[in-house]
Amino acid sequence: MSDERAAPRRLERMEDLVSLCARRGFIFQSSEIYGGINGFWDYGPLGTELKNNLKALWWQRVVRERPDVEGIDSAIIAHPRTWEASGHVEHFSDPMVDCRACKKRFRADQLADAGKCSAREGSSEHDLTEPRSFNLMLRTWIGASEDAAAVAFLRAETCQPIFNDFKRVREAARQKIPFGIAQIGKAFRNEINPRNFTFRSREFEQAELEFFCHPSERERWFEHWLEQRLRFHREIGFDDEHLRTRPHEANELAHYARAAVDVEFLFPFGWQEIEGIHDRGDWDLSRHAEYSGKDLGVTDPETKEHYVPMVIETSVGIDRTCLALLVNAWAEEALEDGESRIVMRFHPALAPVKAAVLPLSKKLAEPAHALEAELRRYMNVFYDDAGNIGRRYRRQDEAGTPFCVTIDFESADDGKATVRDRDSMSQQRVPLEGIAAFLRERVGLAS
Ligand code: ATP
Repeated sequence: MSDERAAPRRLERMEDLVSLCARRGFIFQSSEIYGGINGFWDYGPLGTELKNNLKALWWQRVVRERPDVEGIDSAIIAHPRTWEASGHVEHFSDPMVDCRACKKRFRADQLADAGKCSAREGSSEHDLTEPRSFNLMLRTWIGASEDAAAVAFLRAETCQPIFNDFKRVREAARQKIPFGIAQIGKAFRNEINPRNFTFRSREFEQAELEFFCHPSERERWFEHWLEQRLRFHREIGFDDEHLRTRPHEANELAHYARAAVDVEFLFPFGWQEIEGIHDRGDWDLSRHAEYSGKDLGVTDPETKEHYVPMVIETSVGIDRTCLALLVNAWAEEALEDGESRIVMRFHPALAPVKAAVLPLSKKLAEPAHALEAELRRYMNVFYDDAGNIGRRYRRQDEAGTPFCVTIDFESADDGKATVRDRDSMSQQRVPLEGIAAFLRERVGLAS
């Protein structure tokens, strides 16, 4: 293709992404037919594949490739004492204010985003109450009675069950310090103002690692994990212009934390956190030891020193990273014929659909279905035989499908099909029997 094409335009308005996501079935409002429910989102076929690919890659890099990390999958509801020990019952709250006029509710520390009051005559300022503390944990009741004794919480973060399970997992997996425990799962926060599409939701997924080490090694492991996690974000396609780290100031740190760094991505609505790397010290294990009465310390087999391990945490939002992937992939390109196209330039390994099989005519269904069936053994494939081929390509560009394979009437004669590359739009003839190998080579991740 000509090199003179104007540079692709990145996403500027979130509305453009929100509408593409609904139209193509990436992500849309939950309970849409009832008008939606604020702060909750459903992933459609493409979004689910994208999210699963991201989770699988995280699991691969953080758990499977590491002899020193074990994975778990804990219950969403933990013993309520867990959240007393962790400090969530007492401290996990945001300051909330209400506008007496328009009845809207805001976070007192985010009033810059509150907008004008729609209900006051003569003034557009809100008539705000004093800030009140609002606990963000979602509650439920266990068993038949709804009294205070039966109250439980949906987990506000996935890491607390890891601390509860620390001793069991270490013994069962025969791990020695230093080692880590990881999990991916749902977390729930009753956010006062869910906003920016999925960025701040009330139900979301986290992928967390808690790495346990000797107190003398905490700085080293903090640096190690920070570097690993930055490498991951670069691997999935975030470049230096859109990725940065922000160390927390001393006054931002939780009282138990020694160090914390946010990994931030540049969204159309500004630099925002997608991951936190935290040195949590021995706060969690010590508190759970105190509240449960169990010894969660370890004894060094050589020195016989008994100590409570320090914890280095990496905590990434899966939904926030998916949103960053969508923002990062979105490109609008001018084409030579005066038209333009939207193309989602996902890394091929994360792309929801790897290849589309497009017979030029319904009469070519037999060889096209045969190729589709072969490819489905290795990758997610989409089959589309309806409509003009240009429109079919555009649809796959919006889905972010890296390759389209077109079967035409010559295929029967020369035994080849045309493979179109999503990004360059270049086309090449590839022998039918070599297409699976050709695609498999191109949709894996560079190691
Ligand atoms: P924020 O300051 O944005 O509320 P946080 O500092 O409370 O985030 P953590 O408790 O460190 O976030 O959670 C770790 C990760 O979980 C965040 O980096 C983010 O990716 C994700 N996360 C936290 N809250 C939400 C939410 N309401 N919706 C989606 N993802 C979230």
